[in-house]
Amino acid sequence: MGDAIAMANDHRGTKLKLDLKRRLEERGFEVHDFGAQTEDSMDYPDTVAPAAREISEGRIPRGIVICGSGLGVSYTANRFPGVRAALAGDVDTAEMARLHNDANVLALSADRTDPETAWAIVERWLSTEFEAGRHVPRVEKIDALTRSHDRALYERDPAIADILRREARRQALNLELIASENFVSDAVLEAVGSVATNKYAEGYPGRRYYGGCEVLDEAESLAIERAKALFGADHVNVQPHAGSQANEAAYRAVLDVGDTILAMNLDHGGHLTHGSPVNFSGKLYDIVPYGVRRDTEQIDYDEVRRLALAHRPKLIQCGTTAYSRVLDFDAFRSIADEVGAVLLADIAHIAGFVATGLHPTPVGKAHIVTSTTHKTLRGPRGGMILCDADLARKVDSAVFPGGQGGPLMHVIAAKAVGFLEAAQPSFKGYCQRVLDNARALCAGLDQAGHQIVSGGTDTHLFMLSLLDRDTTGKAAQIALERAGISTNKNMVPFDTRKPMVTSGVRIGTPAVTTRGMGEPEMAEIAGLIARVLERPGDVEALDAVRADVETLCRRFPLYADRWDDE
Ligand SMILES: *Cc1c(COP(=O)(O)O)cnc(C)c1O
Repeated sequence: MGDAIAMANDHRGTKLKLDLKRRLEERGFEVHDFGAQTEDSMDYPDTVAPAAREISEGRIPRGIVICGSGLGVSYTANRFPGVRAALAGDVDTAEMARLHNDANVLALSADRTDPETAWAIVERWLSTEFEAGRHVPRVEKIDALTRSHDRALYERDPAIADILRREARRQALNLELIASENFVSDAVLEAVGSVATNKYAEGYPGRRYYGGCEVLDEAESLAIERAKALFGADHVNVQPHAGSQANEAAYRAVLDVGDTILAMNLDHGGHLTHGSPVNFSGKLYDIVPYGVRRDTEQIDYDEVRRLALAHRPKLIQCGTTAYSRVLDFDAFRSIADEVGAVLLADIAHIAGFVATGLHPTPVGKAHIVTSTTHKTLRGPRGGMILCDADLARKVDSAVFPGGQGGPLMHVIAAKAVGFLEAAQPSFKGYCQRVLDNARALCAGLDQAGHQIVSGGTDTHLFMLSLLDRDTTGKAAQIALERAGISTNKNMVPFDTRKPMVTSGVRIGTPAVTTRGMGEPEMAEIAGLIARVLERPGDVEALDAVRADVETLCRRFPLYADRWDDE
């Protein structure tokens, strides 16, 4: 590799590149030619960036880049960490660039440098060694300016860096239809990967158990103020590590172990933390489940009331993870009042719609509202609790010191960013498109002859029912995954199959909408899903769908700077 040289140019540099390349090869150099090879007009970053990346990542030690003036190609190359590109029009400049700057890329002007001069410049550049000494720290300071987080990780732990690059690629080239997932903005990503991860801040802003919290206190206060404004809440706690921790703390704030909770049946769309026997909620509390009606497959409010009167729960939990209809918080509140129960609304899935007024808000109706911040709300992975002023102290002490230690301050900073983004008018437009897309995708599958739980959707998700088919939820999920479509199997109401098998697939549109896909793409996706479910065992057919999925995904780029094609 010591004798390897990368070469890249635009159309105006093609002739000079070919001349120099021939001479270099005669000298025994191994030239990696990134193009262009013709004089047809093209954009120099397209050839120079891949060449510069090879040098930046240490696979080729040096390179020569050429365009009309030599300027555009040097700007491009110099964007890459560790690349130092020098534009030289005479041999003395080339020599100086090596002696003092350890220039590993030579840029040439095809318009102003004749081939003989160019060759003399190249020879001098190749034969001159870096002087090192006092120039070393100077060159290091240049390189420090372009050292990105990704670069540090690549140098320290190439294994993890490569895994993250492949994961970014997977996210970009798959259709993400898992209803609980989304893609955060670059701003949120940056906050999550920030120095705030270094800080211990047990306690709350202004009342911490550690010193040095005064700066990050401002971040948590901003997160709280923004969330209060966004949801119109009296009090907000932004410290729960996730949605499950928010529910756990909320229960502990108002319940004793053994108390009764009336909550949505998991098979009908409730969450693990709403009383699953394998979860703390099912182990510590006495759970009474309510569900949907057989005929409408929608929540049976008469049954909720009947069960409430019969069991006198101390808490009624409303909120779902796999239910596609609007929740009637007024009905829940009046039932709660009738039996003197605390009403807890878990808006983990619908928080984005609640924040933008596209779903009725439980704030002011439920005594406590819990949520995640990473689903339709599109912030970082995390949880939060909103409550009335009179429950503020109980909720805060249930979170810390009751259940958690130090809050994740980098995530709290990112939550603040997410709340700011959700307060922009454009976020409401996004949420409306999520709803429109869900309806369009659902209608497309309905027309293709698929059964939809409750017959449709008012939200970002719907449940495909496979009760009438031989294909199970598990088999459908596996076949869709093979075709590059990510979903999750899910129990449907009155399911006859086991929880690890199921008869349903949950499908949601928040993530594909974030990529910019709209109703025409939903029609396309409905067609792709229908093709998979027609022949879930036909590997060739699945791979053909996979190719179409990738073509569609490439039309809607995602985090393009975090992965590249091998
Ligand atoms: C996703 C979800 C949660 C839990 O969120 P995690 O962050 O995964 O712990 C809680 N409640 C409901 C209704 C959810 O959908």
